Amino acid sequence: MTRRVINFNAGPAALPLTVLEQARDELLDFEGTGMSIMEHSHRGKAYEAVHFEAMALLRELLAIPDSHAVVLLQGGAHHAFALVPLNLLRAGTRADYVVTGNWSERAIEEARTVGDARAAPPDLARRYTRVPRPDELALDPAAAYAHITTNNTVEGTQYAALPDAGAVPLVADMCSDFLSRPCDFSRVALAYAGAQKNLGPAGVTVYVVRKDVMAAARTDIPNVFRLGVHAAHDSLYNTPPTFAIYLMRNVLRWVKAEGGAEGMARRNRAKAEALYAAVDGAAGCYRCPVEPASRSLMNGVFRLRDEALEDLFVKEAAAQGMVGIKGHRSVGGVRVSMYNAVSPEDVRTLAGFMADFARRHG
Ligand SMILES: *Cc1c(COP(=O)(O)O)cnc(C)c1O
Repeated sequence: MTRRVINFNAGPAALPLTVLEQARDELLDFEGTGMSIMEHSHRGKAYEAVHFEAMALLRELLAIPDSHAVVLLQGGAHHAFALVPLNLLRAGTRADYVVTGNWSERAIEEARTVGDARAAPPDLARRYTRVPRPDELALDPAAAYAHITTNNTVEGTQYAALPDAGAVPLVADMCSDFLSRPCDFSRVALAYAGAQKNLGPAGVTVYVVRKDVMAAARTDIPNVFRLGVHAAHDSLYNTPPTFAIYLMRNVLRWVKAEGGAEGMARRNRAKAEALYAAVDGAAGCYRCPVEPASRSLMNGVFRLRDEALEDLFVKEAAAQGMVGIKGHRSVGGVRVSMYNAVSPEDVRTLAGFMADFARRHG
């Protein structure tokens, strides 16, 4: 008998059960071809159909306009941390990075190996309990681009809406909230997201890039790092991560069947409401360090009033089949990741456990 736990992992994260079941059923013989999709040539008909369906579904589900290209690459967000400045940060220009947590710190650090990058005001002084308010952001109008992290996976903060970057091209690390809700990509110059939070397994990273931004990108870098080269080859410039893209295609089909980006937004709001109600409602047993307006719908972080009980909390949850809730090693506490594949029922089960734990230990 297979036993499935409730998986609140921060990434790689839960996948829809039906997606895994389909992959299992097709593993040895993909659509009557007598081989796994992994064994197909990336230049063959069987794989190409999967590849182009995945790209088309991304476009459809997120209403990505024709002004933007979709590019699929390997390498994860860290690859993007380097690839973005390599493409967009020319000598004599400077990029603005809005530093809101662990991942944006890593992004600016990598950009500085390529060129000039500034931590744009406001300076949150490493107290990442919120994201900047719209009126506080002070971007340099001459910046090559402005980089934000839409959802701060470690700290549990999220922009409720995309900030206004004016005429500055807005670049967004959307790893942990991509396709969790609709997004107006006409306001985005470049977005990137590793699949392993909301889209599929680790191994593929989605880029959404405005074509004029891509056309103006540097050409004096190796071809393999040029977004424009990959876009011109429909992300088949070299061998793509075929199995990861196949699984992502299956996840995207699932998202479509569940109501698309709007359906995900409803589902994610319901889960976050259930979780934060459990955090706020247990007579002070739990405490969310994040300011209410910045609370993430994806990663709910909280502390126990008695921090010494946190290990027991995590252990008892695991004994009841709920795993992956230990906070990131840099911040401690509890983190509940509620990506698309996590169901409202899963979060309600956890909320029930939290109320029970508070009664027993409050
Ligand atoms: C997970 C995550 C990353 C790191 O992704 P890698 O694929 O490991 O490089 C970067 N940014 C955000 C917002 C993330 O959630």
